[in-house]
Amino acid sequence: MKEQTLALHHGYHKDEYKTMAVPVYQTTAYDFETAERAANLFALKELGPIYTRLNNPTTEVLENRIAALEKGAAAIATSSGQAAIFYAVANLAEAGDNILVAKKIYGGATTLLTHTIKRFGIEARLFESDDASDLEFQIDEKTKAIFFESLSNPHISIADVDTIVEIAQRHGVITICDNTVATPIIFNPIEHGVDVVVHSASKYINGQGTAIGGLIVESEELNEKLKGNEKYPQFNEPDESYHGLVYADLPFPIFTLRVRLSLIRDIGAAPAPFNSWLHIQGLETLAIRIKEHSANALKIARFLESHPKVKKVNYPGLESDTNHEKAKKYFKDTMASGLVSFEVESLEFAKHILDNTKLFSVVVNIGDSKSIITHPASTTHQQLSAEELEKTGVTPGLVRLSVGLEAADDLIEDLEQAMES
Ligand SMILES: *Cc1c(COP(=O)(O)O)cnc(C)c1O
Repeated sequence: MKEQTLALHHGYHKDEYKTMAVPVYQTTAYDFETAERAANLFALKELGPIYTRLNNPTTEVLENRIAALEKGAAAIATSSGQAAIFYAVANLAEAGDNILVAKKIYGGATTLLTHTIKRFGIEARLFESDDASDLEFQIDEKTKAIFFESLSNPHISIADVDTIVEIAQRHGVITICDNTVATPIIFNPIEHGVDVVVHSASKYINGQGTAIGGLIVESEELNEKLKGNEKYPQFNEPDESYHGLVYADLPFPIFTLRVRLSLIRDIGAAPAPFNSWLHIQGLETLAIRIKEHSANALKIARFLESHPKVKKVNYPGLESDTNHEKAKKYFKDTMASGLVSFEVESLEFAKHILDNTKLFSVVVNIGDSKSIITHPASTTHQQLSAEELEKTGVTPGLVRLSVGLEAADDLIEDLEQAMES
């Protein structure tokens, strides 16, 4: 089935009332009815809801739909995109291990993966995801994961996914791709051999800026890669915290199962059922929204490219963009989603533009139907040092737009007047 159909119907089995809308199962717990059934559920002899920190029927519809859209075997939802990234990495790497992290990623992911995770004894080594030229020589026997964004926020650069995957496979390292900005409508990392896909559902999936959420999807092939693999003993040796359970012995997709039974069980960043429901509403229109976001963004990028006060425009849909060839190679119909960034001469002029737009709101978010303008150097990337900023490509005069679904002409007029001064 095509994406649009899956997004509307997949994974929902109507209950006795046959409700058309997926119900919000706003409950903490579930009646097991008998002691035996309770024991079976805990022993995984039978699968079913236990407690909403572990699973919930509304959240399960969201999980099933995103797994189908990403062409994966299974998915798990988390309370935020940050939690999804943390769990995906923590499921693979432990103290003493290292991970390879793309330089061009979301600011929150950079602080999480280079600073916070260091305090857990995991070292991050940075690489250039544009061409992966500095990836291979940094891999050693303690490298447990390679993390990158397919279409990076806020640099709007496209990863050389095939090269990254080829190197990772040669060294038996698991790849994690953050597909938040591209969305499964434009790009499917799993079809290119990626093992794990993560999302901030707060962005395009939700689409209206109404709830925070995260998702982790695993590929069909991942089970075979993890089973019997000495690099990942946590899937092959008895888990003492789960009465000696060996994940590799189970007939289920074991990557997300271990996130559920170990990480979410213990650390607990589980989604609220109502937030899952909001993300389900968003998914229903994702395919048509992404087409519009992409078309609007291209019109605005062309306008900016012709503006005398703009030094450089980053949008992979533009023929002049350094990422255009990759957009043609990887992205469906060369759609490039709604992020456009551009460079003006100074930090002061960048701020002037932010202060004078009327339709674009100054908000640190992306993927909303309403257009957004941000100045990464003074907000999302403010916590980074000058050297780190340089590494992630965020210059003082960089302005980022998340182009929404308003009429493109109105948005262009707004930018035009804000740049007059
Ligand atoms: C926003 C974002 C995140 C973090 O997600 P939250 O839902 O805000 O926790 C991770 N990756 C990317 C690419 C993002 O844009």
